[in-house]
Amino acid sequence: LVSVKTLTAPDQASDTTLALTFIDQTPLRVAKSMRSDFVANVSHEIRSPLTAISGFVETLQGEAQNDPEARALFLDLMGKEVVRMTNLVSDLLSLSKVEAKESRAPKNRLNLNQTILQAVESATSLARKRGKNLECQIEPSLPTALGKRDHLARALINLLENAINYSREDGTVTVTAQVAPADNPLKRDAVMIAVRDQGEGIPAREIPRLTERFYRVDKSRSRNVGGTGLGLAIVKHILVRHRGILTIESTLGEGSTFTAYLPVAAPQHKN
Ligand code: ADP
Repeated sequence: LVSVKTLTAPDQASDTTLALTFIDQTPLRVAKSMRSDFVANVSHEIRSPLTAISGFVETLQGEAQNDPEARALFLDLMGKEVVRMTNLVSDLLSLSKVEAKESRAPKNRLNLNQTILQAVESATSLARKRGKNLECQIEPSLPTALGKRDHLARALINLLENAINYSREDGTVTVTAQVAPADNPLKRDAVMIAVRDQGEGIPAREIPRLTERFYRVDKSRSRNVGGTGLGLAIVKHILVRHRGILTIESTLGEGSTFTAYLPVAAPQHKN
């Protein structure tokens, strides 16, 4: 929907000012429908563990009451659903916090080597648990970026956890970090941090939708690994706030590479 307003200066025909104001109403309508989709999705995501828990409670109060083995099983299942809901709420909070600050780029100078190592260390135990090798090839003195250490570490942890969760058993997940080539997508001095896995890959048509909230290629697989469907949306918003960009490349049967490009901070002038 576009409305056009024409302004003219009638008394000075030679000096006519023509201003066209395009009021595009589509974004507002789309934004409204996205918000209601989001609320519907969140409600659905919360309702399914609650439905499961209420079923387990009923079973525990009924037939499983006097069966210690069944009780242990149902309590374990209930615990898993509670973890699922807790992860969902914590991802929703992270998303809303990072979105609220999106317009203000962080100003703190940040040591990227330390930030990447922090993320890799956090992902090590998951890699061990899932039997995956985690390899790092990080340039020793990466340029300084401007950013929030915990936010950027969170973005990298999300990429690492996905690479670990969605890749082949005994596969290797590789993290590389280096100065990006001049023709990088940011078209300015940047650092590129890539997370590569040996998974089954992602069909090309799915790639553009991966950073949408709650979009999953394989719902049951995401559920099995404890995914909330918000991980890549969080990564995207963190990178947007840092004026960075995420690229996703994938080859079916070979694996995927998620690359975060971050602008390098301007050198500090000494007074
Ligand atoms: P989730 O919590 O489901 O992992 P994400 O937003 O992190 O949510 O990812 C969205 C979906 O993208 C995942 O459900 C999965 O289908 C797909 N995906 C993400 N990373 C990978 C990867 N490294 N390999 C294959 N598929 C992936």
